[in-house]
Amino acid sequence: VSTRSRHELDHRVSQTFLRHYDGCPRSGLLYAETREEQVKTVEMVRGAVAHAIYERGVNLMLEHGEPMVPPDLFKVLVDEALAEQHVPLSEHDFIREQAWRWATEWAIDVPSVAAVERLFTMKVDGWAVRCKVDYAEVLNGGQRVYVADYKTGRGAPRYEDIARKRPDRRLSPKSLQLVLYALALVYGRPVVVTKERCLNCASDPEHGVTDLCASCAGSGFVHVERPESDALAPRAQEIVAEFVYPAIENSEGRMLRRRTELTRIELDEYRESLRALIANVARSEQTGDWPAIVSDDACQICPAAARCPIPTDLREDRASIQTLEDLRAAAESYFVDQHRMRSRRAEIKAATERLAAGRLRYGADRVWEYGPVKVVREIPDKDALWAAVEAGRPVERAEYERVSETTPFLDRALSAEELEQEEADGA
Ligand code: SF4
Repeated sequence: VSTRSRHELDHRVSQTFLRHYDGCPRSGLLYAETREEQVKTVEMVRGAVAHAIYERGVNLMLEHGEPMVPPDLFKVLVDEALAEQHVPLSEHDFIREQAWRWATEWAIDVPSVAAVERLFTMKVDGWAVRCKVDYAEVLNGGQRVYVADYKTGRGAPRYEDIARKRPDRRLSPKSLQLVLYALALVYGRPVVVTKERCLNCASDPEHGVTDLCASCAGSGFVHVERPESDALAPRAQEIVAEFVYPAIENSEGRMLRRRTELTRIELDEYRESLRALIANVARSEQTGDWPAIVSDDACQICPAAARCPIPTDLREDRASIQTLEDLRAAAESYFVDQHRMRSRRAEIKAATERLAAGRLRYGADRVWEYGPVKVVREIPDKDALWAAVEAGRPVERAEYERVSETTPFLDRALSAEELEQEEADGA
């Protein structure tokens, strides 16, 4: 769906805008239009405080030339940050837990640290692409770059959602965010931001003078940005970019990470992809054509789904949950549907036995049937097994294992060969 709408971007786009535009150009427009009025959610506030805590932690390590910060000292920084910005008390324990995990694991290479919560700008065909890098190191005399983005929520995407497996088994990023950070470090320039007196008005709140000033909104101060002259790692050949989840413990009890790698050749190809993306943004801006494209990824984070030109019923349950009531209603109907589906499945299975001799062919290419026998191995009493391991006793897996066989009843699509065979058999 495409309905025309004008919006000037001033040849400047942020990483967040691009993330929305990339998934659905219309949601990019909605982000640009509603950015100023976006309400702060508790997740945003919690994320901002957690980022401030990690920034202080790294700065403390740099000040003392130490690769880690003692967790007990870090606790003081956490308390300070919580006192400086309001976060609901119900979130404090969660923030402390993730901060503790971060402090016990996060180690830096002091001389290599190149960016801590630092703004970057990158010129792309006359446009400025901006992003903020949480943490970066430049290693091996500039040949290698490491960049990390902290994710402070409770969920993490699957690897396949953010990366592709290369033939040499490397995981190469396909997440726009990770690619942008890598590009910013190699081709962008870090920006120095300073707070300076506003020269467009006479506002001086300390002395009770405030002007209706468009530049500083009467605060008397503006943030001035000055890009540095050089990129941080223009000669980098190898880039490691990862999402770091201090709030999530992996199966080994460690902080979850989603690590990806890029060669310089791959990065240069992504630079062309970014140029293509910017060319599309420029066209949308010129023509006013911001098409809406429905997808799970884009609609889940749509900044203003209520303004989507595609009616809710045509979006197939995407971005239909806007309020807490919608959410409760959706959770209840999901619960009921699940029960209904389970009973329906059981009925289909029984009826397939009774009426179709255990195999039901339906639709153009679908079949319900029993799959091959599957051997299921389970350890019902895992605690007993762990107790034996911890006590150093020799463990025979078979002693703890229960082996059973099942014939799963499955719904599946027939392969092209099976359909051909059916036709040959005159079915
Ligand atoms: S709801 Fe989905 S399709 Fe509609 S504008 Fe938002 S992201 Fe695009």
